[in-house]
Amino acid sequence: MTGRYDVIVLGAGAAGMMCAIRAGQRGRSVLVLDHAAAPGEKIRISGGGRCNFTNIHAGPKNFLSTNPHFAKSALARFTPQDFIAMVGRHGIAWHEKTLGQLFCDDSAKDIIRMLTDEMRAAGAQLRLRTEISGIEQRAGGYRVSTSEGAFEASSLVVATGGKSIPKMGATGFAYRIAEQFGLPVVETRPGLVPLTLDPQLLQRLSPLSGIAAPAEIRHGKTAFREALLFTHRGLSGPAILQISSYWREGEDITVVIEPDIDIFALLKKAKQVNGRQSAQTALAEILPKRLAQHVVESEGISGNMADLSDKRLQQLAATIQAWSVKPSGSEGYRTAEVTLGGIDTACLDSKTMQAKSIPGLFFIGECVDVTGWLGGYNFQWAWASGHVAGEAA
Ligand code: FAD
Repeated sequence: MTGRYDVIVLGAGAAGMMCAIRAGQRGRSVLVLDHAAAPGEKIRISGGGRCNFTNIHAGPKNFLSTNPHFAKSALARFTPQDFIAMVGRHGIAWHEKTLGQLFCDDSAKDIIRMLTDEMRAAGAQLRLRTEISGIEQRAGGYRVSTSEGAFEASSLVVATGGKSIPKMGATGFAYRIAEQFGLPVVETRPGLVPLTLDPQLLQRLSPLSGIAAPAEIRHGKTAFREALLFTHRGLSGPAILQISSYWREGEDITVVIEPDIDIFALLKKAKQVNGRQSAQTALAEILPKRLAQHVVESEGISGNMADLSDKRLQQLAATIQAWSVKPSGSEGYRTAEVTLGGIDTACLDSKTMQAKSIPGLFFIGECVDVTGWLGGYNFQWAWASGHVAGEAA
């Protein structure tokens, strides 16, 4: 089997499908190839099955990239409102959960159905279970050799995602294509990922496994206020996933539990009002019981509040609100929601996502060195970069 198209898109994920829709709408003949058995598998599992499909506050500040300005153009040309309008046209009900994060009321599958319906309406063809064995640049475009034969096109769009969750078919294929064409790749690493702790510390914290608390996690000048979760491997929860994208091996993070409460002031007041109360009882008013118990025991505190000096109370508060901890690592690509780094934006045109030195070759979505925060930003980048490439391919 061979075939000639205007545009071949490699990868039927969020970015690839959006690109195929826009290119098809422009009258381009489009073929989308994917080795998976179904399109949009990451969309299906995203947001706990309800897909956090965008964030109404999405802007360049919510993305990590060697060039923080790169994402501006695409994000401005396809906005959260544009995606919301598409969702609305398909009658998909949604709600804002928190912090501008929009989720489907019902199922992430509604988003996949919307995208495949739009692709069909735009005349884009989708071929699944297709292994890609080679890519060649030829006069007039590109030839893609696959398990289903060879296909040619004048434009080739690489939308094969990053390395996160290899069990779901993530391959890092885009980086190999970049290498083949001599394009630089910014070092990749797992992002939005739980952090692990060394075995000794983990053992000490084992009674806390499963406990969640509001927290602020700080790393240098970056801080996120969301939930913190103690796990049997280390630390997780949205606040940790967010900071993990900024953290590097060997560095400390600072954990502030209940950042809206001045725990030292609260303990001092508790001592004045009821000196016969234990520190554990006082703390259990604001912290989960097990956490209050653990903090007090690990500080070696016993007796009544009246027996504790202000200095001691300050130390106790600091273990809860100024806990400096050095994670031993992260859970890696196995559980990371995204891959940081990727195709160097310096070699791409920010308006089209086309490689500056290689006409007709485009990179979009997660494989590019643009990574969003947790909260719908990564899909917004996939839609936006896919859309602008679809306008140009
Ligand atoms: P992908 O969606 O990964 O698509 C890549 C496609 O390429 C896949 O279909 C894959 O099968 C195909 N492919 C890969 N290699 C090859 C190859 N060699 N040959 C052929 N085909 C190939 N982001 C949000 O904004 N909101 C969320 O709620 C959210 N939840 C998430 C939950 C989880 C568990 C995970 C892992 C991620 C989540 N993300 C979320 C991140 C989001 O899923 C990604 O940023 C987004 O899917 C990237 O889109 P993409 O099209 O670039 O890549």
